[in-house]
Amino acid sequence: MHDRRDQAQDTGKAAPTHPAPAADGATEAEAVVFVCAACEVPLTGPLTRLPAVPEAPYYEWWNAEEPGPSPPTVPSGCYAIETEPYGAPLVASEVPAQAMPRYGTISNEHGQYLVSQGPRGNIVINPDDAHGLEYHHASSACCGATPTGGMNQLCTCGTPVATLCSDCCCPYELHLSPDRVRAVGP
Ligand SMILES: [Zn+2]
Ligand SMILES: [Zn+2]
Repeated sequence: MHDRRDQAQDTGKAAPTHPAPAADGATEAEAVVFVCAACEVPLTGPLTRLPAVPEAPYYEWWNAEEPGPSPPTVPSGCYAIETEPYGAPLVASEVPAQAMPRYGTISNEHGQYLVSQGPRGNIVINPDDAHGLEYHHASSACCGATPTGGMNQLCTCGTPVATLCSDCCCPYELHLSPDRVRAVGP
């Protein structure tokens, strides 16, 4: 029997190093795009999850030269899950409390504090990262939108999908409703 060495490939040469192709998604494993659950239209670009919703940036809206949205709570390109109740309905509370996270207090005509009993688990993003949404008036505000009336953003298919908070005295946030959107790979 001949001991034939017909190939000389395994000579211990180091494999050439080059960046792995991104097509397998390994480097973007955590980025997702949120689409409308009803019509599948993309509502955001690729977003990466943060471990928690950040504190809203300190902003002296009352000193702003022009009324308008505050700096966004969530940086562009990211999302975070709100674990506390958010948005409508608001119910009277016996103890002083914020109406909902990062929002401040609201009281009714009897001087009682109102707190959210809205859904938990909203997906919070920078409103500027959403596209194709149409504002649907839900509660009064001075120059933007408030979350106190519930969902106020419609997909182009007409489905309410999110709650925008953009009034000058509020944190600037868009809350996608977890029942109305779906996360897909980019
Ligand atoms: Zn839709
Ligand atoms: Zn305003």
